[in-house]
Amino acid sequence: MTERIQRVTVITAHPDDSEFGAGATVAKLVREGKVVTYCILTNGNKGSSDRAMTPERLVAIREEEQRNAARVLGVETVDFLGFPDCELEDTRASRMAVTAAIRRHRPDLVIAQNPHRTKLLGASHRDHRIAAGIAIDCVYPLARDHMAFPELMAQGLEPHKVKEVHMMWWENPELVVDVSDTMDLKIKALACHVSQLKDMAAVEKRVRERAAELGKPKGYAYAETFEPIVIER
Ligand SMILES: [Zn+2]
Repeated sequence: MTERIQRVTVITAHPDDSEFGAGATVAKLVREGKVVTYCILTNGNKGSSDRAMTPERLVAIREEEQRNAARVLGVETVDFLGFPDCELEDTRASRMAVTAAIRRHRPDLVIAQNPHRTKLLGASHRDHRIAAGIAIDCVYPLARDHMAFPELMAQGLEPHKVKEVHMMWWENPELVVDVSDTMDLKIKALACHVSQLKDMAAVEKRVRERAAELGKPKGYAYAETFEPIVIER
């Protein structure tokens, strides 16, 4: 990663999305000396099949799990924006919350999810598509323009220009990141999401196979893949 990228914010829908989509890349960026922060739009309060679980308890559990995973990867701060799981909408309120996060974190690079519906149903969950759309709209133009959300300027949140967005991408990706050296950290971070992973051995097998498949064309043991947008203005 070039010198022009020093600060990175990963914007995702749910606790655990960053680790699944970009955990090894995050660990690699931290090793390269970049400051990485997380912004998570929903509280994950529906991600349980346990009939005795309550949404309130689940929110607290998932925040704790996400903080633990962030610590494993060396992520500096985690923002929980608190929108309800599976009910994320692209509204003025959600766009303003993400714009505020971008202006606070001031990233050069935003890593976002994939805004498109694909055949990978888990990866193209509606919250993921909506979170990605919001993230990209907030990068350009909402975080950049001082007259967007005057409330934020009143709070001292000055406009900010993001230089690049890397969308999590799997079909003919332009950017294939060699994460062979940080794959173990990704697995360790994923394992922090105890409430979400009933069979960690099976998850590890699936995640490693997928990363190996993505790395194969480039000759990498493991890869994570993205579609970059470079913002010129
Ligand atoms: Zn998710």
